[in-house]
Amino acid sequence: MGLWFTEKQTDNFGITAKIKQTYHTEQTAFQKLNMVETEEWGNMLLLDDMVMTTEKDEFVYHEMVAHVPLFTHPNPKEVLVVGGGDGGVIREILKHPSVTKAVLVDIDGKVIEYSKKYLPSIAGKLDDPRVEVRVADGFMHIAESEKAYDVILVDSTEPVGPAVNLFTKGFYAGISKALKDDGIFVAQTDNPWFKADLIRQVYADVKEIFPVTRLYTANIPTYPSGLWTFTIGSKIHDPLKVKEERFFEIDTKYYTKQLHHACFVLPRFVEDLTV
Ligand code: SAM
Repeated sequence: MGLWFTEKQTDNFGITAKIKQTYHTEQTAFQKLNMVETEEWGNMLLLDDMVMTTEKDEFVYHEMVAHVPLFTHPNPKEVLVVGGGDGGVIREILKHPSVTKAVLVDIDGKVIEYSKKYLPSIAGKLDDPRVEVRVADGFMHIAESEKAYDVILVDSTEPVGPAVNLFTKGFYAGISKALKDDGIFVAQTDNPWFKADLIRQVYADVKEIFPVTRLYTANIPTYPSGLWTFTIGSKIHDPLKVKEERFFEIDTKYYTKQLHHACFVLPRFVEDLTV
């Protein structure tokens, strides 16, 4: 039989994965952290019994949360990641030569510590000289920042525990203040099958603050329902109006310049969440 981990995505539905070994289990000051090796997905980080990232499918999420806004901005230099302690988004940001500073603010230093140890293919760039790692509450960092960033990426856990404030209108208004005059932000906004109300609310809030607001999707097999959404809020630049010459060759396994446009074509039941 062996050991199996099950994430309940709803009270009546979930996914299950066969575990090869458990590297580390700890109740941190903020959440329950598990680092395991699975038969199917390689090493996997779990927080509060929810899949955060796996070695096999992490590239989808990390490429899509990073490259869509970074190619939309004409010249991103200073970039902030709120959350993202596994380091995957930082790895993708550093593929943009224009970036001179990438700041990561994660509330839980244990996530960073164990990701470096057990997820080197994901966390391996956290020691790059362009990277500044801060262990702090992202909500407070945003509140203390003004016109500081070109692009802000919110790679947080779901709206539970320490991340509840990161899905509020007040936080998005703070992000607008923390961004420069032509700034762009993206937040992961969960899945349309089980969290339609969350997406509808976040989209409506962001639309009241940012002139350009859009929703895009990606397929992430180990995330609830496998269909994930991202909400983009931009002060000026529209992801669907990126000039052809802005795109350069980049080492990716999911993101392409064609997908950059296609990911905004939404199935009707998802599109209905944006009206
Ligand atoms: N990609 C994953 C997802 O979409 O579910 C998220 C991965 S990342 C590991 C999530 C991070 O958000 C965690 O490391 C957690 O510590 C961090 N986090 C949660 N609340 C936070 C807050 N208020 N400020 C900063 N980081 C926070």
